[in-house]
Amino acid sequence: MTDWAAHEGRCLIHLLPDVITLFHEYVQRNPSDPESGGILLGTVHGPHNQVVHATPPFPTDRRTRCSFDRGSEGHTEVADQFWRESSGIIRYIGEWHTHPEDYPSPSGIDLREWKISAAKRTDGRPVIGLIVGRKAIYIQSTSATGKALVYQALLGNCPALGH
Ligand SMILES: [Zn+2]
Repeated sequence: MTDWAAHEGRCLIHLLPDVITLFHEYVQRNPSDPESGGILLGTVHGPHNQVVHATPPFPTDRRTRCSFDRGSEGHTEVADQFWRESSGIIRYIGEWHTHPEDYPSPSGIDLREWKISAAKRTDGRPVIGLIVGRKAIYIQSTSATGKALVYQALLGNCPALGH
């Protein structure tokens, strides 16, 4: 689950182990677990991305069983700190949230929000949208023009989130 590819391998995403560990913590295993989410921070290498950190949910986020809205506090501050301490190498590259389904797929709202986020980006790069389900992760990138690219987990990765 750590290496992902799209566009016949021309676009790769690598997730560092700490990021996977964080996702594990927020999988919606129980019927009462709310959605969680945050932003993805990482480094860019041409068309490739490496995710080095995912922010956890913060107290001002609004979380229900089937929705997650990032609040005003926490995520941006963490992003700014990574940006400063890495001299601008580690930057915002996308967003993640959980879904209460085994094999997640994006909702209409997700697709719309990723498009809006991509259009807002000042560096012109696509936004990575990542959904953590109970047994799998869904990853797609969305460009400023709204073009979506769905990533596939590469073989040899550990098979699933569930235990
Ligand atoms: Zn969603």
